[in-house]
Amino acid sequence: PPLSNIQTRDVEALLHPYTPLHKLRENGPTVIERGKGVYVYDTRGKEYIEGMSGLWCAGLGFGEEELVEAATEQMRTLPYYHLFGGKGMEPAIELAEKLKEIAPVPISKVFFTSSGSEANDTQVKLAWYMNNALGRPKKKKIISRQKAYHGVTIMSASLTGLPYNHMGWDLPVDRVLHTDCPHYYRFGQDGESEAEFTARIVKSLSDLIEREGPDTIAAMIAEPVMGAGGVIVPPAGYYAAVKEVLDAHDIILIDDEVINGFGRTGEWWGCQSLGMTPTTISAAKQMTAAYAPLGAVMVPEDIYQAYVDHSAKIGTFGHGFTYGGHPLGCALGVKAIEIYQRRDIIGHVRKLAPVFAARMDRVAQHPLVGEARYCGLMGGVELVADKATKRPFDPKSGVGPQVARILEGHGAILRAIGDTIALCPPMVITEAELTELFDRLEKGLADAEAWVAK
Ligand code: PLP
Repeated sequence: PPLSNIQTRDVEALLHPYTPLHKLRENGPTVIERGKGVYVYDTRGKEYIEGMSGLWCAGLGFGEEELVEAATEQMRTLPYYHLFGGKGMEPAIELAEKLKEIAPVPISKVFFTSSGSEANDTQVKLAWYMNNALGRPKKKKIISRQKAYHGVTIMSASLTGLPYNHMGWDLPVDRVLHTDCPHYYRFGQDGESEAEFTARIVKSLSDLIEREGPDTIAAMIAEPVMGAGGVIVPPAGYYAAVKEVLDAHDIILIDDEVINGFGRTGEWWGCQSLGMTPTTISAAKQMTAAYAPLGAVMVPEDIYQAYVDHSAKIGTFGHGFTYGGHPLGCALGVKAIEIYQRRDIIGHVRKLAPVFAARMDRVAQHPLVGEARYCGLMGGVELVADKATKRPFDPKSGVGPQVARILEGHGAILRAIGDTIALCPPMVITEAELTELFDRLEKGLADAEAWVAK
């Protein structure tokens, strides 16, 4: 159909992120007007199940009145303040206290940012600052992984291990190294068991550290279940083996919980589901249930002490964001965590996880599906040209985005990451709604099969 008035206004006025703009002018954007529960509605009145919680973030769905009230109250009391130069405010204090209470490892202090990218940038600066404080200025390189997603600022895009986040910008910057992606289905070799695959990629990490020199490497960053890289769940035992290598060389482990955190995997933190023991943690997204932007960096006592020593010796940590720890975000964070606890949202995720798993296993049988992987209430359906050989589609054929469009037609908003269709529904989804989401996904896959055959 021709573009509606609002679609035309959109393409005339907006530069959309992560969007093939030439196609947008043709097809027009899906302009979302309102949301309720797990549903959103576009300006034509069409209803969709928001199977991605927006961008993996609206964990309590759309239209949660308790959050609206908490936001309104905070806006009336103190709509803005900051934490620079010795100022403070209660919402930030209260949220930091809450985060310390629920953290998976002992945390001493919380630094607030406005986003996940800024949290990971801050992590790198803290690691560098700490190593300056400890008198080892050479120990600055950061190891990330191929297919990792850690954000889009120059440093967090460098940590990201996806080609389209590097192309055109001469990234990654130096001091950033990428090691193997722990995805057995894609990178396991012929005849190699999952345990052998794990041993091989952990050995390759160890070799990388030896080659570069352990005294040049500050940290490794890892997202427990890799979300935007295609929902990749590393093999059992992977993180324990990684941690052993890192500990042997005094390399800290930065845990990116931006997607995994706050119940998504069936525990408070993805690291708890995946057997990972972090040194520091980045959080954002579901921390406020996405009702306002906020990011956080959580650090243990020894890193805090290095920070204190260093600022006494050579100067203040010259870093902070105008909206880092914004009172609106912090008040929403406090309320969201309180709701997660009071309504046992994580218990609900655990209860639904087997239903999600069973439907994903069924989807895995579809002829177009190479692998359907999942953890808690997040999943990825990888579409392949040949199920037996795992041969992917020609990237130019645009199968993933086309399938996502077909799914939208069936009233399911899911995200194509290349040819992987990601699922990350609001954690408050009911069993009936989840069943409906998978029914729509299966209808879409049936249509996609016909489209591919053409
Ligand atoms: N880290 C992870 C694991 C993410 O998935 C994202 C965003 O999707 C980020 C960091 C960046 O967060 P933001 O988009 O808030 O900057």
